[in-house]
Amino acid sequence: MSEYRHILFATDLSPESESVATRAIDLAQRYQARLTLVHVVEHLPVDLPTDIVLPERMEMGEYLVETSRERLTALAERIGVSDAQRLVELGSPKAEITRVAEEQGVDLIVVGSHGRHGLELLLGSTANGVLHAAKCDVLAVRVKE
Ligand code: AMP
Repeated sequence: MSEYRHILFATDLSPESESVATRAIDLAQRYQARLTLVHVVEHLPVDLPTDIVLPERMEMGEYLVETSRERLTALAERIGVSDAQRLVELGSPKAEITRVAEEQGVDLIVVGSHGRHGLELLLGSTANGVLHAAKCDVLAVRVKE
């Protein structure tokens, strides 16, 4: 079996994603692979607080990218990988995760999987979308809810 050289951990920045991170970090250590963290800010934030005041001249997308960058840095520090490359992208998670993976020469993407059913299964989760679109290996780590 060939070795993984560059692992991409895709995080939605949820507390549950930290257990998925543990698996990505463990694999990166075993294979002595590079580790990159990516978070994608979606185009249409549905859960945005209505009372936030944007800093002057800052657009909403820019503001969300900026705050996500801070949250991703904080996550990297908490899980002990503050030297790993961190990327924040704007767009659709599935499309951006797979684009970044190709651009960065990633050979393994690690995502969380909720194992949902019904409508969400029909529409497809991010994990499912990445699994079908990625050109490299994808590890879906079951998230305990
Ligand atoms: P989902 O099924 O869409 O809730 O997400 C499953 C997994 O996809 C998460 O555990 C993450 O690994 C990844 N993911 C979901 N949303 C994002 C996002 N906005 N940015 C990066 N990764 C994400």
